[in-house]
Amino acid sequence: MTDLNKPAPTTRFYIGGRGSDLSVGVEKLKNVGTRNAPRLQRLGIKTLKDLLWHLPTRYEDYSETTPISEITPDQKVNIQGEIVKITTKKLFPRRMFVTNAIVKDLTGAVKAVWFNQPFIENQLPEGAFVSLAGKVKVGKNGAYLSSPTYERISPFQPTTHNPQPTTLKHTHGLVPVYPETEGITSKYLRFLIKPILSDIRLNDSTPETILKKYDFPCLTDAVKNIHFPDSERNAQKAKERLAFDDLMLFQIKALLERRKLNQLKSVPISFNEELVKNFISGLPFELTKDQKIALYEILKDLEKKYPMNRLMEGDVGSGKTVVALIAAYQIARAGYQTVFLAPTEVLAGQHFNTIKSITNDENIKIGLLTASMSKLNSEDMSKKTLKEKISSAEINIIIGTHAVLQKDVLFGKLALLVIDEQHRFGINQRATLVKNTELVPHLLSMTATPIPRTLALTIYGDLDISIIKEKPKNRQKIITKVSPPSQKKEVYQFIRDEIKNGRQVFVVCPRIEISDPKKEIKTGGVQSKMNILWADVKAVEEEHKKLSQEIFPDLRVAMLHGKLKPKEKNQIMQEFKDGWHDILVSTSVIEVGVDIPNATVMAIESAERFGLAQLHQFRGRVGRSEHQSYCLLFSSSGDKSTNQRLKALVNCDDGFELAEKDMAIRGPGEFMGTKQSGLPDLAMASLANVDLIKKARAEARLLLKEDPSLSHYPLLRQRLDDFQKFTHFE
Ligand code: ADP
Ligand code: MG
Repeated sequence: MTDLNKPAPTTRFYIGGRGSDLSVGVEKLKNVGTRNAPRLQRLGIKTLKDLLWHLPTRYEDYSETTPISEITPDQKVNIQGEIVKITTKKLFPRRMFVTNAIVKDLTGAVKAVWFNQPFIENQLPEGAFVSLAGKVKVGKNGAYLSSPTYERISPFQPTTHNPQPTTLKHTHGLVPVYPETEGITSKYLRFLIKPILSDIRLNDSTPETILKKYDFPCLTDAVKNIHFPDSERNAQKAKERLAFDDLMLFQIKALLERRKLNQLKSVPISFNEELVKNFISGLPFELTKDQKIALYEILKDLEKKYPMNRLMEGDVGSGKTVVALIAAYQIARAGYQTVFLAPTEVLAGQHFNTIKSITNDENIKIGLLTASMSKLNSEDMSKKTLKEKISSAEINIIIGTHAVLQKDVLFGKLALLVIDEQHRFGINQRATLVKNTELVPHLLSMTATPIPRTLALTIYGDLDISIIKEKPKNRQKIITKVSPPSQKKEVYQFIRDEIKNGRQVFVVCPRIEISDPKKEIKTGGVQSKMNILWADVKAVEEEHKKLSQEIFPDLRVAMLHGKLKPKEKNQIMQEFKDGWHDILVSTSVIEVGVDIPNATVMAIESAERFGLAQLHQFRGRVGRSEHQSYCLLFSSSGDKSTNQRLKALVNCDDGFELAEKDMAIRGPGEFMGTKQSGLPDLAMASLANVDLIKKARAEARLLLKEDPSLSHYPLLRQRLDDFQKFTHFE
């Protein structure tokens, strides 16, 4: 076993006047060795850089050394003194070693106790001086320190306290506590990191003027302070500085991307006010104010010679489709094409029907192209013919799924790409669509997952954002209830009553969780995704069996899951829409956008397994008609915080507010998926710090204005290039 109290190893990590080489593998570091290197890897630590950026989650505060006479029970203390006695006994019958020591300072003496670490007796012989940190407990014979962390210190005259605070890493000062894994303790990490810190010199990519302006420490100091701060304030400052680096980089990247985009050419579509007004007045409803604003922003963007890059955020049912459609209509009348991309066939089919019915203009040709469907207006048509008509620009609006992105689909006069539920797609559909043309279509992404503003500003820095908050007037509030399993009977009776009144019901089955995420990585994404899918299917089949055979044998119960063929899914959705089924048992595939006005009950099993935002999405499936609708959440967990989380849903029907809550509860990383956003943890964690984000934005702007290619900042440029390798927002 490594003695973690040994003197610091002295390896230097830099050569000449240049900064330390952070790409050194951890296995090359002293005191890592073949046993610990793989363990460190499990924490994501492969290089020196990873090690230094493995940041403490918190600090134990041992800044004060307490005189032994002043320690009080339950306190966490650092004491320093001389070992006056130490003995180890073996306790039967449990065969446990107990080491008892008496430590004395000028003011008094206290006992320290360790279990199953008999070697301590050798490390701390009588007469040795020691620094101890740990919790004070009270036993039969008075106060004692229970399994304190210990460090040898050199002998001192016990006339003063704090004799050697700076050399200590485990027992004095603000002691960092790190994310750990089996075999890698915080103590080991401190042992590894502290000596390195005294040797490193880090190249700082952030310009000095910025550091001065905000009183940020230089990178080397920031890294030192984040691991072993001399005060909470300095730890905080170091954290801010490191987060700032990432936030600023993100902003720079966004600005550069936007600049690149602004240099591309697209088809400018002039705003035809009369046409748009006419179209709007023909709608069966009045647009909300937010819809009008979003529409105006979009139409203004379309007038530009460079491509629009806009995200339209709006809660479920806020009416995003019609806004996009009006833009598409204007484009059609100008002789150009729009393509709507939907994540599923069901949704594509639904968009197609909605758009067809709203458009109400015979001159507008609307096509549907998915893996299993190809239609032009109301007419079925072979894919081949449809594609020909797309490439000759005879079709004005094309609605489709991924099928539209195939190589052989060529657009004659494409001006606008609308992506519904953009987070469900991979990256860069626009690039996929741009074939043999230098005209880049305008892009309008839509999402019903409201993203808190700070998050949106940061990760979608290169997008303009339109927000639809207001719901159409005719929408009624959906009554939401959380029910424990004991109330199932009543709930089933309620469902029965609703169905008797002619309504329909969704039942969403719990999402099946992967028990071992590591296994997922090993077996490879695709295979294990299949397994999850199968597990989901099984859950649906079981629920379907239970409901159709035991609970509601007299009712018509259908099921829907991801393993069905798109055609089958479409058929079941269509049948449900047409009223052939009373209950639809489903996986989360019904999550997005499906419109079944007659459905008034959304019952969700094991609701605690879903995020708030997703539950809110499910809820949005009902309440689409004049009938009062209900969202019933079954929670099998008696856990208080879970129920509190679900309560948020009962009390709030604003998707944006729920998103903020969800983010606050689960943290931005969980909420968005850190990987997905590309934003490092620290920056993620500081997304609540609006002020810091604003600073990062402002500085990014200034830097690029002054030095558009960052030629004076080669280190920053390098970081940016590295960063761009793994981020990817359209
Ligand atoms: P989402 O934003 O979730 O995609 P949709 O665009 O599907 O919402 O709209 C939901 C329903 O609301 C559609 O049937 C649509 O025709 C209708 N709708 C849209 N805007 C309004 C409005 N201003 N007033 C009333 N109904 C509207
Ligand atoms: Mg929608």
